[in-house]
Amino acid sequence: MTLLPTTTVGSFPKPDYLVRARTLHARNQMSRDELAELERKATREVIALQEKLGLDILVDGEMYRGDMTAFFAEQLEGMGTSGLVRSYGNRYYRKPIVVGEIRRPRPMTVEWYKFAQGLTKKPVKGMLTGPYTMTDWSFNEHYPSRKDTIMAFAEVIREEAEDLQRAGAQYIQIDEPALSTRPDELPIAIEAMHRVTAGLTVKTISHMCYGDFPSIYPGLLQLPVDQLDLEAANNDYALIDLIKTHPFTKEIALGVLDSHDHRVESKEEVAAGIRRALTVLKPEQVTIDPDCGLKTRTWEEAEGKLAVLVAAVREVREELARPKAKVS
Ligand SMILES: [Zn+2]
Repeated sequence: MTLLPTTTVGSFPKPDYLVRARTLHARNQMSRDELAELERKATREVIALQEKLGLDILVDGEMYRGDMTAFFAEQLEGMGTSGLVRSYGNRYYRKPIVVGEIRRPRPMTVEWYKFAQGLTKKPVKGMLTGPYTMTDWSFNEHYPSRKDTIMAFAEVIREEAEDLQRAGAQYIQIDEPALSTRPDELPIAIEAMHRVTAGLTVKTISHMCYGDFPSIYPGLLQLPVDQLDLEAANNDYALIDLIKTHPFTKEIALGVLDSHDHRVESKEEVAAGIRRALTVLKPEQVTIDPDCGLKTRTWEEAEGKLAVLVAAVREVREELARPKAKVS
């Protein structure tokens, strides 16, 4: 793999025809098969876009997922769904509820992984939601404690991760965006991730966001994955100052695009961010990606931002390849 490989966190914007189809399906006006055909069409388009942009490690774009917790909860035994729960502002959603013993009757993501990987020679990441986040974003009415719930999710996610590895995935990402919200639970999250990754030999990654990283750093480095995928752009690379307080001992996927901002960054600012990161990190330990998933952006914004990311990385790679110039 080349220096500073490029990738994305996981989700891409859903094309308009797929958004419409999901609404029709929810109203029982479109069959599951018709919707699945459009999900495959959108997945082909997302793979083609990533190849056109020149990204190195691809994702399937999560065209078949609504929410990263509900997608798994709907496929697991022992799970139900709450009534409407208020999130921020006036948005309401249904939250998964653990109502019985959590079991995985069948693989949840393996067919989508195989479909996406079949469309490209570049590696496609397997993509799972971690046990801590599954628990934090669900209600529990069955297990006696949060820890029991987290470990029960860890068991089914371990099964899924091992199936992805058997299916040929070279990278398995187990996202834990909820992790930085309760620093006191970091040890449980670490134990649960160990359950998930202990039997894996492929590269493991965990994405986190909403990052109050100072509250869990450097403890976060104990999370048993090869690579941590962290946002840097949306808080002006405060992460770099944090790394100055304690060396970063893992690989890092560094977020250099603000995923929640419409504005397309300039190549200069992204390249400057990467150079800044390389003052505290070795090039060999750094992958470059956006801060978070891109599903809230438009297709044009996602394409524009990623084109800038790839161009900025190429510029920095050329600088790294040049013999060191003497500073006069
Ligand atoms: Zn995120």
